[in-house]
Amino acid sequence: MPFADRLNNVETSAIRELFKLLGKPGIISFAGGFPDSAMFDVDGIREAVNAALTEEAGGALQYGATEGYNPLREQLAAFMTAKGNQGVAPDNLIVTTGSQQALDLLGKTLVSPGDKVIVEGPTFLATIQCFRLYGAQLVTAPVDGQGVQTDRLEQLIVEHKPKFIYLIPTFGNPSGAMLSLERRKKVLELAVQHNVLVVEDDPYGDLYFGDAPPPSLLALSSQVPGSRERLVHCGSLSKVLSPGLRVGWMVGTADLLAKATMCKQFSDAHTSTFAQATAAQYLKAGRMPGTLAKVRAVYAERAATMGDALRRELGEAIEFVQPQGGLFVWARLTGAGGKLADGGELAKRAIDKGVAFVPGAPFYASQPDHTTLRLSFATVGLDKIEEGVGRLATAL
Ligand code: PMP
Repeated sequence: MPFADRLNNVETSAIRELFKLLGKPGIISFAGGFPDSAMFDVDGIREAVNAALTEEAGGALQYGATEGYNPLREQLAAFMTAKGNQGVAPDNLIVTTGSQQALDLLGKTLVSPGDKVIVEGPTFLATIQCFRLYGAQLVTAPVDGQGVQTDRLEQLIVEHKPKFIYLIPTFGNPSGAMLSLERRKKVLELAVQHNVLVVEDDPYGDLYFGDAPPPSLLALSSQVPGSRERLVHCGSLSKVLSPGLRVGWMVGTADLLAKATMCKQFSDAHTSTFAQATAAQYLKAGRMPGTLAKVRAVYAERAATMGDALRRELGEAIEFVQPQGGLFVWARLTGAGGKLADGGELAKRAIDKGVAFVPGAPFYASQPDHTTLRLSFATVGLDKIEEGVGRLATAL
């Protein structure tokens, strides 16, 4: 097939190969990046569907505006404002088919072949692939327990003059890290000082276990003059309500949203109006705070159980920062006691012992750290978490 040259920039991920093995009976999987389907508020969504069909069938079943279905844009603006993102009006956001589409639209509207884009090391694998598809040259900024290292980020901005910087500041996939308040402010100052665009991808910010995380970059932008116009914020209902709805959104400047809307028009015309009307009704019914409280409590307990089990069963052979939210434990094999320190090798052995996780190396756009692994606690019950970690210790 005479494929486009741009396909040479990407390859099928190593992780996909691993997922083929997950069908083995009895496997306990810490590999997925999914929320737990047992947590879906099915009753609430059913009521929202009924309300959408009763009150607004014409809108819910008809073609719609590419920018998004207005009742949903209004609800999302209110949802964002209630979370402290002051000054987000319905016109300041477009609805996207999952936040994944927002990332694709950013690639389409901003990246010319050879443009540099700074991403965190590690970062979301699909973002790496998506930006590369448009020919981006990715530059990796290192991450520690406090998120991206802003002093290194500044050096990289000066050295590479990137088109934009892509960050997942809150409970990132895969790092689980939470960018400190100080560093958040620094990121916004860097955006202004170096006149560079920052993309804040935030599908996990609502999934905190104890205290709320620091305000989003978007919320903080009101405190740093000139930063709001250099910021794009991507949100999603996937991790808090349902990924199957495919409802995400993007907040940005009017010129960026106009170009993104144009590209979206050529791509899918609009996000499913049925899904948008359902999401709008769900938010309008005021069920989200209750859903979030429930989801946070369940994930918090699972995260704590996994952390305790890892510390107990693997001891010095593993290092990690206990996650304060999100879906993942991001860990490093230390090699202590002569134990294996290669995440890829351990993943293979682990499958034989009946437990799966994802090795960390593919989440790096460059300079992969092969000692890393990503363990999701989101979809596994407490007993199975204990059992799975026990199997992991045996594999190690
Ligand atoms: N960004 C990040 C960091 C993610 O982890 C994901 C989903 N795994 C997405 C974006 C895309 O999510 P969705 O398209 O379902 O909103």
